[in-house]
Amino acid sequence: MLQFEILKNPNPMPETDRAKAFENLGFGTLFSDHMSVIHWSAEKGWHSAKVTARAPFALDPASSVLHYAQEIFEGMKAYRAADGQIVLFRPEENARRFNASARRLAMPELPEEDFLAAIEKLVALDSAWVPGGEGSLYLRPFMFASEAFLGVRPSREYIFCVIASPVGPYFKGGAKPVKIWVSEDYSRAAVGGTGAAKCGGNYAASLLAQAEATQHGCDQVLFLDAAERKWIEELGGMNIFFVLDDGSIITPPLGTILPGITRNSIMTLAADNNITVHERPYSFEELQADLSSGRLVEAFACGTAAVVAGIGELKHGNGSLTIGSGEIGPVTKLLREKLIGIQKQDLADTHGWLRRI
Ligand code: PMP
Repeated sequence: MLQFEILKNPNPMPETDRAKAFENLGFGTLFSDHMSVIHWSAEKGWHSAKVTARAPFALDPASSVLHYAQEIFEGMKAYRAADGQIVLFRPEENARRFNASARRLAMPELPEEDFLAAIEKLVALDSAWVPGGEGSLYLRPFMFASEAFLGVRPSREYIFCVIASPVGPYFKGGAKPVKIWVSEDYSRAAVGGTGAAKCGGNYAASLLAQAEATQHGCDQVLFLDAAERKWIEELGGMNIFFVLDDGSIITPPLGTILPGITRNSIMTLAADNNITVHERPYSFEELQADLSSGRLVEAFACGTAAVVAGIGELKHGNGSLTIGSGEIGPVTKLLREKLIGIQKQDLADTHGWLRRI
C-alpha cells in the first residue's frame, strides 16, 4: 500500500469566504483547498503519493493526453449526515469501475486500496468542505497520460489525481421534472467501443448532441444505439429507467452503456420494495406505443450528480411526448427517497453501502 505525504495548503480559503460560497452552491465551479496526486511510470510503477495544495499541473505540450485523449475519470460524493458524520457512498464500486476503464484505455490499474486512500485522505483533510443539507462534496478522481511523446501507443507515464468540489443540486430546477432531447443524429457508443468506460473522449463526443438538447430547451440528451438507431441506451451523464402501469420498471442492459453505481443501487432498492426490474432492451418505438396506450407512466434518470431525476417530457425531431402526468411520479419519488435516505443516513444502511471517513 502506498504511503501518502500530507502537505497542507499554507493558504486555505478563509472560513468566512467558504461559508459565503456555500450559500449559493452550483455544480463544479468551487473547489476545495487540496488534491491527491499519485504518479506512475513504466520504470517505477505507482509512486510519490501525496495530498497537497490544489494547484495547476505543468504539462509538456507533447503530453499524450493532449493528443490522443488517453484519460479516464470517476465521479462520486461525500455526504454529511445531520449529526455531522461524513460518509462515502459505495466508493469501492468507483475504484472497480475506474480500473475497468483503465483496462479499456490501456492504462495501468491503481490498486483499490490506494484509490480509496487517495479519496479518504483528501476528504479527511478537506472535511470542512463537505456541505450539509442538500449539498455534498463531489469527488473527481481522474488519470491521464503525461508522457511527452507523439507516437500513437499507450503512454509510459501517468498522473492520477483527485479534486473535490462542494455542490448543490445538479439541475437548477431542483426537484422539478427534467426535459430530455432524444438524439436521432448522433450516437454515443458502438459495440466494441468505449461506451462502458468512463473516458473523457466519450464526453467530448457527446457535447454537440448535448448542445442540441440545450437548443431545444432540454436538460439532457438521450442516446439511441449506434447500430440500429432504435434502442434506448442512456443519457449524456445518467442512466435511465421507465416505470410501467403494473408497477414494474425497465432499464436498458449493460454493454455499451456506463454501468452506473446509482443504476445498480436503484435496482437493489427496487427489489427491496417488491418492484420487479426488467433489465432489457427497450426501443424508442416501444416507448412511444407504451405512452399512447398508457402503459408507460413514469421515467427517471439516475446518476451520482443528480441522484434520481424525474423525466417529465421527451422531445425529438418530430415533436414532444409527455411522460405520464408530466410530474414526478410516485415510484420515482419512492426510489429517490430510499436512496437519498441511505446517503444522508436517515434510513438504515442495510446493504453496507456507506463508508465512514
Ligand atoms: N452514464 C453516464 C454516461 C455517466 O456519465 C454517468 C455518471 N457517472 C452515469 C451513467 C451514472 O453513473 P453513476 O450512477 O455511477 O454516477
